[in-house]
Amino acid sequence: MSPAFASMKRAAEQPMQYAADWKARTGRKVVGLLPMHFPGELAHAAGCLPVVLQDDAEPVTVGQANVFNFYCGLNRSLIDQTMRGNFDGLDAIMFGDHCVQLLGTADVIRAERPSLPILFNQLCTTLDANWALRETLGTFEQLWKELEDLTGHEITTSSTLASIRLFNRSRAQMRRLYEMRRRGEIAISGRDMQTVVKSSMVMDRAEHVALMDELFAALPRQVGSSSDITVYLSGHMCHAPKPAIIDAIEESGARVVNDDLYVGWRFIHADMDESLPPIEAMARWYLDKNRKLPCPTRTMQGIDWEDYLLGEVERSQARGLIVLMVKFCEPHMYFYPEIKEAFDRAGIPHLLIETEHEEMPMEALKTRIETFVEIAKRRADSKAA
Ligand code: SF4
Repeated sequence: MSPAFASMKRAAEQPMQYAADWKARTGRKVVGLLPMHFPGELAHAAGCLPVVLQDDAEPVTVGQANVFNFYCGLNRSLIDQTMRGNFDGLDAIMFGDHCVQLLGTADVIRAERPSLPILFNQLCTTLDANWALRETLGTFEQLWKELEDLTGHEITTSSTLASIRLFNRSRAQMRRLYEMRRRGEIAISGRDMQTVVKSSMVMDRAEHVALMDELFAALPRQVGSSSDITVYLSGHMCHAPKPAIIDAIEESGARVVNDDLYVGWRFIHADMDESLPPIEAMARWYLDKNRKLPCPTRTMQGIDWEDYLLGEVERSQARGLIVLMVKFCEPHMYFYPEIKEAFDRAGIPHLLIETEHEEMPMEALKTRIETFVEIAKRRADSKAA
């Protein structure tokens, strides 16, 4: 393991420890950021460390009395972590309302930690409404002011532009890594790809960018095995799938060529336009999201997730689709039937895996994945014949 990757792994596994060390080193504020739509760039421009809050591997215990069992693993874990004091080092949390469960989580955190500022902002869900740009500009202007109040400093246009440039550079690095993996040029496991993206969500971006430069130099070049069947991973909104699931997919003889996971391509796919005034760049970045990669929590006429997935599976020459669905994720559950229907119609093998925060029956899951990979292989062979 290269020293650069080891640093990323440490931060990804212990984000709050990383944040505490950063805070002690810099004396600046740490802002927790809730997935999936708020720009960390703005908190960075305010001099803060934006940290996308993650679920942790601990079972939900002390938080159990404050959370519904039918909340997704991320929400239950966030509430549990709040009760365990994991977030006590945060100076604020930027909260959105992209699903109903997050609203409940915001309420619990507010009640449990009344002194922790919650910067709660609503972003419009209909991205192509004629009022959407005006509303979004207003939301980000308000957030800008809230962050100025939090830090006691003015956020300047030039610092915001610098943050946008830095975050764009960081995303471009990770997209390059994706592209190298898609072409089979590098040997990097799905687990390690997750670590790279997750660490970028929680680390100082300048530090992460420097580590990425080191990582590129150290990555072993390798052409992927031609016997591997290529698959595309979709779903898992808001948080990282368990590494064991990604391992099980790869150990079954599949090679992941691309994904639209939040801790993955979804987080890095789009840049902000550096030629625009920063607030407009952020608003347009947000409003263009669905055109580039549809999100089940947002809507836009004529844009469908299943069409995007069919196109991306073809573009990345994947032989099958594996959908990772977070248990109780309502937005994803609403969309899945359309995806299934479209892939059935197109004759492309697909597998739905419902994931849980708690222990999962991995042996049974491995059998399902192996069966799926075998089916995808046979389908690919019969097409080629
Ligand atoms: S994973 Fe789904 S249910 Fe959970 S916070 Fe995200 S959108 Fe909401």
